[in-house]
Amino acid sequence: MVIAVDGPAAAGKGTLSRRLSGYYGLAYLDTGTLYRGVGWLMLSQGLDPRNAEDAAATARDFTLEKVADADIRTGDVGKAASVVAVQPAVRAALLDYQRNFACEGRPGARGAILDGRDIGTVVCPDATVKLFVTASDEARAERRWRELQVGDPGISLNQVLDDIRRRDARDSSRAEAPLRPAPGAHLLDTTSLSIDAAFAAACRVIDRALEDRRA
Ligand code: C5P
Repeated sequence: MVIAVDGPAAAGKGTLSRRLSGYYGLAYLDTGTLYRGVGWLMLSQGLDPRNAEDAAATARDFTLEKVADADIRTGDVGKAASVVAVQPAVRAALLDYQRNFACEGRPGARGAILDGRDIGTVVCPDATVKLFVTASDEARAERRWRELQVGDPGISLNQVLDDIRRRDARDSSRAEAPLRPAPGAHLLDTTSLSIDAAFAAACRVIDRALEDRRA
């Protein structure tokens, strides 16, 4: 079983996917980590994330171990991630890792759950279940603002809202694997849902899909 979870920044994909992975016994991959990792490596080496050749070389040599101790959850790294993510050679270099993970997961797991922007459309178009998780811009900005405040108490909500809108625009308008719901994806709007309610709604979709497959 493979579950594909896509959606814009800070829609609640990560929290939801982690809970689903525990509940259904699935290996979990946050694919944003790969793009953030490439972005962080470039920034930390003084490279410009817009430079296609450097970005492709960094992505080809990428391993998760290289960023194991790095702080990749910052706004700057998120921006660098979305800049390297428009480049086809970067996406191609990271594709095999994601597909292998979807096929192999980890020993003992019943399958895998991956979250990102193009899991249902490109990485795992044959996923058992596809979810597209979204929420209003304001709700997403407020969630991300609360997270970022821990490390950066001075950050303003408006700045986070602007960053999120810019990143979504870049992710949605790029030519290669743009952010959009995959055919057959189930839309889950979490604007006014608690984490528990979003989890329950996702479980209903997944259980129904599993029943349909058994029928
Ligand atoms: O999900 P997260 O915010 O960590 O992703 C960071 C950036 O990585 C996204 O804004 C997007 O540009 C890129 N990304 C992508 N495809 C994925 C996952 C992330 O392009 N599957």
